[in-house]
Amino acid sequence: MKNTKLLALAALLLTSQAHLAFAQGTFGGLGSLGAIADVAKAATLSESDVIDGSRQMMVHQDATNKVAPAGDKYAKRLSTLTSKFANEDGLKLNFKAYLSPQINAFATPDGSIRVYSGLMDLMTDDELRGVIGHEIGHTKLGHSVSGMKKALLLSAGRKGAAASGNGAVSALAGSELGAIAETVLNAQFSQSDETASDDYGFSFMKKHNFNVGAMESAFRKLAKGESGGHSLMSTHPGSAERADRMKAKATGSGAAGQ
Ligand SMILES: [Zn+2]
Repeated sequence: MKNTKLLALAALLLTSQAHLAFAQGTFGGLGSLGAIADVAKAATLSESDVIDGSRQMMVHQDATNKVAPAGDKYAKRLSTLTSKFANEDGLKLNFKAYLSPQINAFATPDGSIRVYSGLMDLMTDDELRGVIGHEIGHTKLGHSVSGMKKALLLSAGRKGAAASGNGAVSALAGSELGAIAETVLNAQFSQSDETASDDYGFSFMKKHNFNVGAMESAFRKLAKGESGGHSLMSTHPGSAERADRMKAKATGSGAAGQ
């Protein structure tokens, strides 16, 4: 829902501005995004543009979050528990742990997956794999791409609207990437996207012979903290309901494929 509003706003901004946002030099690494100069092009951002943008956003995210260094216990644990799926379903993944008490994890269209140490403290290895499988689902099923595309278009509109002066262009690059990240990471997926990603995660667990029951227990743990506002918990359906679905799938009774 939030996304829809952002898109509407972006569209409004886009139509009122002849010259768009991704001016040369500002998003130096964005490939064809750097050349976007009219609404028509912006509206047809390709998937590879979105992946480029996402990669740039993640460089910024990693620079502004506390990434667990190579020898750190969280980094080691994450690397060990993800070793079987560095390349998953045609997607080359890169993993990092963020040292933060937040109970959170996210994936972006370039194959980045970030897992917060707060979530790692809460979950067993298989539960973490279940959450990661769910996040891979958001990327593989195209949910993350569409969220990223909306954020890029919004950013383009915002910069077009902000107009003239060139003096702040290089300084804007970082803040703009930060704003894009905020849009993408705070956006909520729809209920059907969440359910589809849960099913993807379940199949992922099954495929790798991980414990499929861990999907249920991961959601039970999240359900306990349901009043929190972060993205893993703030989605519908609620975690308890999602745990019930995963239980039903694991035990082969009903709900499969829904
Ligand atoms: Zn999700």
